Amino acid sequence: MKLYSSMGVRWIQAPSPRRPSSSPHSEKSAGVRKGSGGTVSSKVIAHASSLDPVPGAEESLDAIRADLGDCRRCKLSPGRKNIVFGSGNPKADLMFVGEAPGANEDERGLPFVGRAGQLLTKIIEAIGIRREDVFICNILKCRPPGNRNPETDEISICESFLFRQIASVKPKVICALGTFGAQTLLRTTEPIGRLRGRLMDYRGAKLMATFHPAYLLRNPNEKRKVWEDMRIISEYLNPRNS
Ligand code: SF4
Repeated sequence: MKLYSSMGVRWIQAPSPRRPSSSPHSEKSAGVRKGSGGTVSSKVIAHASSLDPVPGAEESLDAIRADLGDCRRCKLSPGRKNIVFGSGNPKADLMFVGEAPGANEDERGLPFVGRAGQLLTKIIEAIGIRREDVFICNILKCRPPGNRNPETDEISICESFLFRQIASVKPKVICALGTFGAQTLLRTTEPIGRLRGRLMDYRGAKLMATFHPAYLLRNPNEKRKVWEDMRIISEYLNPRNS
């Protein structure tokens, strides 16, 4: 039993690390938008959604990044400093998807590199996984001005790169961070409070929606729900340790 008193959580059990990666370590923060509260469902596995896997040939993350290039496909390109493609293990079992880069991420070209990113690292480590062993990215690869919410046209143009990233990494579990990320991936308007707490079928993997780390910084009393979600992920990835 590991103690996370600084997080207000006292019961997370850390299983053994898995699938080491040769990828460079990446830090994080978060472009934060809003997360909402809601009722808790704590079923370990529930098949609430079923979407087909992405068809097509396998391609590497490097190939996808090369195709993205100096992207000017949507109206976010003029205001960005850096494209934030994503970082981590290109064959990770666990993939985190936020909604869009924030100011720190835009500055550094890396996902989740501010305070929220530090909290995300703690969340990952709380289930015995190193940050460099997961893959972290966002739906949008460029920062919306003023950290505003992504707009429909931007998502519709950019999301194909995320889907190609998912097809390339082939994670066992995708963890959607925050209302916007979860709703975009699941094509739903359900509040995250009703989406979280269970694994759903998604493109050949499982998907867990949970609160965004930035939301947790504003609402620390919700951290326990995220730990519950992470423990479900951990039990799915490491059934012998549960
Ligand atoms: S958000 Fe996506 S589609 Fe838009 S410019 Fe950036 S990389 Fe291209």
